[in-house]
Amino acid sequence: MWPDTVEQLKTALGAQNVSTNKLDLFMYGRSLAWPFLMREPDIVVRPHSPMDVATILRIANRARIPVTAKGGIGEGASVPLEGGILIDLTTLNKIEVHPEDKVVVVEAGASWHQMLAELRKHDLTVPIWPTYESAAVCSAAFVNPSHGYGSTRYGVVADLCLGVEAALPNGELLRVGALANELTQYGVFFRYPNGPEFTGLWTQVEGNFGVITRLAFKTIDFKKEWLSTQFFTFKRDQLDECGKAIFKCVRSEIFDVHFNDRWWVIPAIKEGVVKELPEDAWFLVSIINFGRTENELKAHEEIALNAMKQFGGKESVEGAEKLVGPTRYTPKYESGPAEPWPAWNLVGHDSWGSRNTRNAGMWLTTSAHFPYRFFNDVYEYNEKICKDLGIWNERYLPWHDSFACRDSFKTETFQIYNPYNPNDMKLMWAYLERYLPLQISRGGTFHGLTIQFHSKAAMEKLGPLYEWMKKMRDELDPNHIMNPGTLF
Ligand SMILES: Cc1cc2nc3c(=O)[nH]c(=O)nc-3n(C[C@H](O)[C@H](O)[C@H](O)COP(=O)(O)OP(=O)(O)OC[C@H]3O[C@@H](n4cnc5c(N)ncnc54)[C@H](O)[C@@H]3O)c2cc1C
Repeated sequence: MWPDTVEQLKTALGAQNVSTNKLDLFMYGRSLAWPFLMREPDIVVRPHSPMDVATILRIANRARIPVTAKGGIGEGASVPLEGGILIDLTTLNKIEVHPEDKVVVVEAGASWHQMLAELRKHDLTVPIWPTYESAAVCSAAFVNPSHGYGSTRYGVVADLCLGVEAALPNGELLRVGALANELTQYGVFFRYPNGPEFTGLWTQVEGNFGVITRLAFKTIDFKKEWLSTQFFTFKRDQLDECGKAIFKCVRSEIFDVHFNDRWWVIPAIKEGVVKELPEDAWFLVSIINFGRTENELKAHEEIALNAMKQFGGKESVEGAEKLVGPTRYTPKYESGPAEPWPAWNLVGHDSWGSRNTRNAGMWLTTSAHFPYRFFNDVYEYNEKICKDLGIWNERYLPWHDSFACRDSFKTETFQIYNPYNPNDMKLMWAYLERYLPLQISRGGTFHGLTIQFHSKAAMEKLGPLYEWMKKMRDELDPNHIMNPGTLF
C-alpha cells in the first residue's frame, strides 16, 4: 500500500527506519487491549530526531495517510484504528537534565522510568511514579495524563509539565510553554511565557493535533532515604469512614495515598507473602510519606496515622513492609533480591502486577477521575454490577486499584479474564457496557488509556468545547490524518 510514500519515507529516514514487513505490522498491531481491539498499521516508522517526526507528518499529510503516535506497550489508545503510518517513538529518547534550573527536557519516546533513573543520578525526581516501570514513554505519560505514587501531593503528570514541542501535520515544529523560551539566554524555566500558554492543549487529546517530540518537566530534590510507608485496613462496613480518612490525608498533602480492596491482595495471601492480615480487612490504604528531615517525616507519619485512626482504620506494619515498601529506609533493601513495590519506581517481578497476573490471566481495566464525595457510590455501583454478572469472586479478582490524587479520586477497576474463553469475553463486554455509561453520564474524566471504549458521549458531554476542539483540529489537521477514530 502507498509504495511512493514508503519510498519517500525511506529516503528521508533511511530504509532501516521504515518497515512494511508483515511480522512487524502484526506485532505493532497489538497492545494489552488486543482481545477487544486490534488493527495493524500499513507502515511503521522509527524517527531519531524531532525533525524526522516533522518530515514524517509532512509526507503523510501530502498523501493523506492516517498517522498514529505509539509510545510503549500501551493499553489500546495507540491502536491505529484506520491503519496507515504508525510512529514508534521509542527511538526518540534523549534526556537532558538541567539541575541548575531544576528542569528535565526529554524526547517523547524516553520511558518515564528511564527519565527517573537519569534524575536519580542528580538526587532529583519528577515526583509522580506510575507503576508501569519502563513500559510507557514520557509523551504518553503526559497525554494520558498519568498519575502515580506522589499524585496525592503533586497531581498528575501534566500538572508538572512545563512545556511541549510538537510536530504539526504541515511539517512545522512548534514549541509552547517553557520550551518556547528555549533559545533565549534564560532558557527553559517557567511554563508561562509572554502570551497565551498552550501546553495543556497537548494533553488528553490522543495525538489528534500533532505529535509531541519533546517535553520539559519540573523536578524536586529527592533521595529514597526521605520516604517511609504506612498501611491501614478497614472493614467492609467502613466504606464511608475509609473514604473520609483518605480525603483527610489528601487535604493534608500527604505524599501518596493509595486505595485497594481485598481482591487485590488475595494472590499475595495465597503465595504466603502476607500472613497476618485480619480476616475482616476489606479496604486497604497504602501510604507513602516524604520528608527531607527526620522531623518532617515523623510529622507526616503522625498526620496520616491520626487521620486513619480518627475514622477507625487499623494499622498493619506487615502490610506496609510486604505490600508497599520499607516502613523506614535501610540499606538492606538495596541489596535484597527483590525490592517490594513501589520500590522507589522499580516495579520488579515481585510487584503486584506481576504477582496478580502470574496467578490469574489478562486484566481488563477502567480508569476514571471523579470527586471524592462519590467515593462510596462508585464502589457500591461497581460491586453491584460485578455481583449481577457473577464476577464478584476469586475467579475474576475484581479488585480496585485507585490513586487518591490531589484534585480527584482516580479509580481503576480490574477484572482478570481469559481472552480465549468466549463466555469471559461476553462478561467483560457486559461489564464495560454497564460501568462506563455511569461514569460518562456523571461527568467522569477518563484517563486516556481506554479512550476507544468511552464512545463519543464522553466527548459530547463537553458541549461547546467539543465543537471548539473540532474547529481547532480543522485548523491544525485539515486533512484529519491524526489518530482518526479516537476523539472525533
Ligand atoms: C503494568 C502497567 C501499569 C500501569 N500503571 C499505571 C499507572 O500507575 N499510572 C498511569 O497513569 N497509568 C498506568 N498504566 C496505564 C498507562 O498509562 C497506559 O497503558 C499508557 O497508555 C501507556 O503508555 P504508552 O507509552 O504505551 O503509550 P500509548 O498507549 O502508545 O499512547 C497513549 C496515547 O498517547 C498518544 N501519544 C503517545 N505519544 C505521543 C506523542 N509523542 N504525541 C502525541 N500523542 C502521543 C497515543 O497516540 C495514544 O493515544 C499502566 C499500564 C501498565 C501496562
